[in-house]
Amino acid sequence: MDNRTKDQKELVVNWHITEACNYHCNYCFAKWDKQKNELINDDKAISKLMDEIQKLPSILNDKYLTDFESIRLNLVGGETFLNIRKVLRITHQAKQRQFSLSAITNGSRLNNELVTLIASNFDSIGFSVDSLDSSTNIKIGRTEKTGVMDTDKVLRDISLIKELNPSIDIKINTVVSSLNRLEDLSAFIDQVAPRKWKIFKVLPVITRENEVSQDDFIEFLERHSSFGNIISSEDNDEMTDSYLMIDPIGRFFQNSILGSGYSYSAPIVDTSIKEALNEINFEPQKFHGRYKTNLITMQEVF
Ligand code: SF4
Repeated sequence: MDNRTKDQKELVVNWHITEACNYHCNYCFAKWDKQKNELINDDKAISKLMDEIQKLPSILNDKYLTDFESIRLNLVGGETFLNIRKVLRITHQAKQRQFSLSAITNGSRLNNELVTLIASNFDSIGFSVDSLDSSTNIKIGRTEKTGVMDTDKVLRDISLIKELNPSIDIKINTVVSSLNRLEDLSAFIDQVAPRKWKIFKVLPVITRENEVSQDDFIEFLERHSSFGNIISSEDNDEMTDSYLMIDPIGRFFQNSILGSGYSYSAPIVDTSIKEALNEINFEPQKFHGRYKTNLITMQEVF
């Protein structure tokens, strides 16, 4: 009998569909030199990329003796929901291929139409929330002409999504940096009641500005230890070479903590996903560690 859960059979592919974002967080790692030819502008390229992604489970199973059966396409940015028409096209194509869908958003552009789109088509939606304090959000860069990030609106949108789809997984992502390391997000997390709260230590890919020490990071985790059952945390080593990430122009890319920036494969739509996969470092044990056990408990972190 196969006792594995859906999470354990699902291959998660993170596609950064756009670099564009209305915020400018100082530690943002979603930077690929503002390429003009983002795939989301080209329906044929989206379709080809999706066809190639569909081949990944069997390629990985052959290569690494993994046992993936399905795909969850995780849409990330930039800000994923800046352009609803483009997200609609991707959603349609993903559904045609029976991919599950999830996304990460800063929540700023959600309106009724997007809330309904998410509730009706996505299995999971993650909100990135680092601070409840407007002055900290301004320092982080979570602000635009129309104002600073509104975490009360994020709460209202989450509650609407849950109302429309009570079985959707709500996740919160928090990056701990020197700017928010002393903050207590407990009240917010209590209200959202997410299935998972991912807490990341700021990753020095683009800049070392606002780094935190391991002690500060652990202190942040300890302050929120009452949420230990939903927290998964990742330090820099765990985040390296363990995600399957595709950039806006359709290349696999990987972080390296040895240098700054990324290494890339050739564009998947110009070659094949099998060849592109050979051009990056991918560590299936780390990947499996993340999605198989799913939660790295507080005890394991300490
Ligand atoms: S909201 Fe996300 S994508 Fe936008 S600037 Fe901040 S970290 Fe980058």
